[in-house]
Amino acid sequence: MLKGKTALVTGSTSGIGLGVAKCLAAQGANIVLNGFGDAEGPKAEIAALGAKVAYHGADMSQPAEIEDMMKFAASQFGRVDILVNNAGIQHVASVEDFPVARWDAIIAINLSSAFHTTRLALPAMKAANWGRVINIASTHGLVASAGKSAYVAAKHGIVGFTKATALETATTGVTSNAICPGWVLTPLVQKQIDDRAAREGIPVEQAQRELLGEKQPSLQFTTPQQLGELAVFLCSSSADNVRGVAWQVDGGWTAQ
Ligand code: NAD
Repeated sequence: MLKGKTALVTGSTSGIGLGVAKCLAAQGANIVLNGFGDAEGPKAEIAALGAKVAYHGADMSQPAEIEDMMKFAASQFGRVDILVNNAGIQHVASVEDFPVARWDAIIAINLSSAFHTTRLALPAMKAANWGRVINIASTHGLVASAGKSAYVAAKHGIVGFTKATALETATTGVTSNAICPGWVLTPLVQKQIDDRAAREGIPVEQAQRELLGEKQPSLQFTTPQQLGELAVFLCSSSADNVRGVAWQVDGGWTAQ
């Protein structure tokens, strides 16, 4: 379905980003990976699906590096047709104790990076009259939790940015939508489970059950693959007129 298209997924060396990249690759898209840590393993996983793959290690907090990554993607594959803004970090602290540098980093990586990639990707998408901007937001783009002020602000921001982009592209073949996962068992969430286990002096399995029970009525984690399949749908022609949505995949979290 996506043969000949190129998808750039930020923060795709692990977790949700890698899951989304694999689903898009399975549909035939060329993939540009980004993120920290080991890139060779993820590159091999994408190549094994028969897709062409390239990697750029831009730090999403640095606009100049983002510009370099977008130029690199165009030089490798012509243009970016599908942009998945996924890179994200978390820090948990009360507002008055929140380290200023962590606030700035979360806003830069979880929100401003999507502005930079999108502003740089849109001209070629509009010229081709086809494009998909998919922002991996969160339930925290729709509701809040205590201790996550920067993350909640950034995720609410990206839901708003998704809508504004959708309006600016509404009469074109370019769409912009957000996916709002609840808990997904990735390194980002495993750290929160481990912190809870250590804080409460309980086994990790119990901390995991408590984390789910607190927010996610299904008591099941959403998987990166399920989010990837939703991204594939948003790339299909059936989704040509899906514009500016913030789509929950959260086991009922925001239905409460
Ligand atoms: P993860 O920690 O497994 O992956 C994050 C990815 O982003 C990694 O590839 C990492 O290298 C990359 N990254 C981090 N900082 C970066 C930077 N400065 N520049 C470039 N890349 C950077 O986390 P995840 O759970 O897969 O999260 C992915 C996205 O999904 C995030 O935006 C997160 O907020 C969102 N999300 C996660 C959950 C969840 O439960 N895991 C729920 C809702 C939303």
